[in-house]
Amino acid sequence: MKTFESLMEEVQKPGLCHHCGGCVTFCTAINFGALTLSPEGTPRFGDRAKCIECGICYMICPEIGELDEEARKKIGWEPPTGRILEATASRAADPEIRTLATDGGVVTAILAHLFDEGRIDGAIVTRQAGLFLREPWLARTRREIVDAAGFHFDASHGMRLFSEKYSTFAPSVGMLGAMGKAGVRRVAFVGTPCQIKTIRKMEALSIVPTDSIAYCLGLFCSGNFIFGPAERERLEHLGGFRWPEVKKINVKDALMVHTNSGVTEIPLSELSFMRRYACRFCDDYAAEYADISFGGIGSPEGYTSVIARTPLGRAVHSWARDDGSLEGLPKGEAAAAPPAILEKVAEKSLAKKKTAAENRRGLTAAH
Ligand SMILES: Cc1cc2nc3c(=O)[nH]c(=O)nc-3n(C[C@H](O)[C@H](O)[C@H](O)COP(=O)(O)OP(=O)(O)OC[C@H]3O[C@@H](n4cnc5c(N)ncnc54)[C@H](O)[C@@H]3O)c2cc1C
Ligand code: SF4
Ligand code: SF4
Ligand code: SF4
Repeated sequence: MKTFESLMEEVQKPGLCHHCGGCVTFCTAINFGALTLSPEGTPRFGDRAKCIECGICYMICPEIGELDEEARKKIGWEPPTGRILEATASRAADPEIRTLATDGGVVTAILAHLFDEGRIDGAIVTRQAGLFLREPWLARTRREIVDAAGFHFDASHGMRLFSEKYSTFAPSVGMLGAMGKAGVRRVAFVGTPCQIKTIRKMEALSIVPTDSIAYCLGLFCSGNFIFGPAERERLEHLGGFRWPEVKKINVKDALMVHTNSGVTEIPLSELSFMRRYACRFCDDYAAEYADISFGGIGSPEGYTSVIARTPLGRAVHSWARDDGSLEGLPKGEAAAAPPAILEKVAEKSLAKKKTAAENRRGLTAAH
């Protein structure tokens, strides 16, 4: 039986662990209590004697191929880049959400709609914990859902908010434990593709408390970025901007840095110095295991590209659109959006799979 020892050997040692937190979350939620997270977010044995060698942490790790087939069946995954039922560009109707949001605020508008309609009691999102740091958060009110929107900067706080940690990554899967304790029965989970895949594997094993996850909302992802002091300085040079002027950052084809004087685009190919190492091996760009996926590419600035992947995901989008929480592009532009989104997403998804395969081959050759 493969256990956490094998995860350390096969995933952690070669640098493939992207800190999704799934292994620790399961071991803790089921009260085995053998695993814990280091202060840097790396899973490790907290109390090795408590390990009963059930092997489940190994099976649910997204870096391990076990349960891939079950997870795929569960959501009707189709080659080469997952099932696509609908593609569209939308934005939140609420101007406050649009102001706070990363792109068009569709994720937040859908969560707020689900909450208002009583379809969820809360949402696992992330909130800003510093200028360059987000932390997982179980939002239990509409206000908390709206406050979790976006990746915006409030420069009026100056550099005071610079924390000692600087990463866009937030181990949201760990919030499943908090959800169980808070007695929340139906939540929507928002996460990166790797986090959604971990959830699907847990669902394939019917692991408590994933039965409380009613909707999986995935974010397109070209990588998580470290914004340490050295990386920030290099980025300022690359983009020719000053951090105190920055209002918002979002990722599309490039890293988009919004200041009062306009938008600076820095090609993602120039950002490998600040991308997390494990992301080099990731082959999922557009959250292929989600009910519905969201990103910026393929849509005009201020809109979110939306891909419904399951009938549930398609329903969620149409409920929110029908009650006026979402609005589409102006009539003349709407027809061009789906093909533009699909083309971009296919291009990015296939390129990410190719790069991941090449990097894995390199890793195998090196060992
Ligand atoms: C690390 C990262 C990389 C991305 N890379 C790309 C990319 O290459 N191309 C692209 O088109 N889109 C990318 N996106 C998605 C894009 O930035 C937007 O999140 C998406 O378009 C939804 O926009 P929105 O305005 O509808 O969302 P909003 O209404 O602003 O809501 C965003 C939601 O995501 C949650 N969230 C924010 N950061 C994280 C995080 N790190 N982990 C989990 N949840 C989070 C927020 O709490 C909020 O609930 C990336 C997102 C992230 C977090
Ligand atoms: S008890 Fe099970 S889940 Fe926990 S570390 Fe051991 S094998 Fe992994
Ligand atoms: S389950 Fe997630 S945190 Fe645990 S070893 Fe695998 S990638 Fe790392
Ligand atoms: S690229 Fe994104 S989805 Fe892939 S491992 Fe990194 S954070 Fe997770």
